[in-house]
Amino acid sequence: MRLRNKRNRYIRNIFRQKWISGKWQLYLIDKDNFLLMKPTHYSFLGIVAALVFFVSSVGFSQDQKSNLRRVLEGKVICLDPGHGGTAATDQYRVGPTGEREEWINLRVARMLQRMLKKSGAKVLMTRTEDVSISLADRAALAVANQADMFISIHHNATADRSVNFPIIYFHGSSEENRAGVVLGKLIGESFRRTLFSDEGPLSVVSDFAIFPNSGAGVLRGTYGIPAVIAEASFFSHAPEEARLKRNVYNRKEAKAYMKAISEYFSIEEAMPIEEKVQPMQLAPFQVFQEAERMSPEAMNWMGNFTEGKRIVDEGLEDDFERALTQLTVSVRSFPDSPVAGEAHQYRAMILEAMGKPTEAEEERLRRKYFYPVFEHLR
Ligand SMILES: [Zn+2]
Repeated sequence: MRLRNKRNRYIRNIFRQKWISGKWQLYLIDKDNFLLMKPTHYSFLGIVAALVFFVSSVGFSQDQKSNLRRVLEGKVICLDPGHGGTAATDQYRVGPTGEREEWINLRVARMLQRMLKKSGAKVLMTRTEDVSISLADRAALAVANQADMFISIHHNATADRSVNFPIIYFHGSSEENRAGVVLGKLIGESFRRTLFSDEGPLSVVSDFAIFPNSGAGVLRGTYGIPAVIAEASFFSHAPEEARLKRNVYNRKEAKAYMKAISEYFSIEEAMPIEEKVQPMQLAPFQVFQEAERMSPEAMNWMGNFTEGKRIVDEGLEDDFERALTQLTVSVRSFPDSPVAGEAHQYRAMILEAMGKPTEAEEERLRRKYFYPVFEHLR
């Protein structure tokens, strides 16, 4: 299994020939020009070995293919490429050089659709063209066809253009929606491994973190089906936008989905989705709207968090009022940031110290329900 995972990373292997010590020699090199195989002479055996390696690293290996078919055969999977048909009206979901989120979402979804079909799954697409579809219709398609899974495919944007990492949303509370959390974690980790060299943050958060009143429309409408909204990366990050324009990178992302989806269906333990009660018991924690998130104050989400945390860690009680404000602004500016859950936890500590136990408890619950913690990622 480990071997297969490793081999899978070298998706873009290419051959290079070099003139070395009076002969042409063959190299097999991956996309970062990292030498995978020692130079060999042009021998029949060497070429065959290199070809087998090359072919198996581009697609799925025979072993992987039969495993995928065993797990996915007959599964009904609804893919929802986010947005669509808004080029004339939406100036927000567009990258630094003009690539639009709705186009990227559709490209990845269509590649994933083909891969899933090849493995015997039945795929429902909420859209196959650059057109606008209502959130209710998207959810209804999955519900009407009794889908086994619903994945809304998105890419992210924010005013802070240095930000780039995966964010996955599940609906409601992590305690009630175990299926959503597990699926979100698998997809997020697969993105992190495939697209981010296993480095950097990953957020798997409730949709109530960003839509505090009732969560996200498509997830609300499909609740009961294992479902997530997945944002693989940020197209507001210029180098990432450049990568996202390339089919080969989109295919890499689709493969990361394939891996996570098949892993999910391989899990044998039951993952119940309970009635949604907990999120409705908490007062909505209001967040800044899109325009407000562009302010300099909002851009300082990390600085505000770090300073608020420092004040609490050092026990500077005279500054707790200021720390509370900074932590609040950090969460409101970027409610699904990698530090937002911790910011809620620190708010709880301050509120407790201020003699506000009810508010402190509410903050602890927000942390618990909306920001599940995965130890090994910390
Ligand atoms: Zn989106």
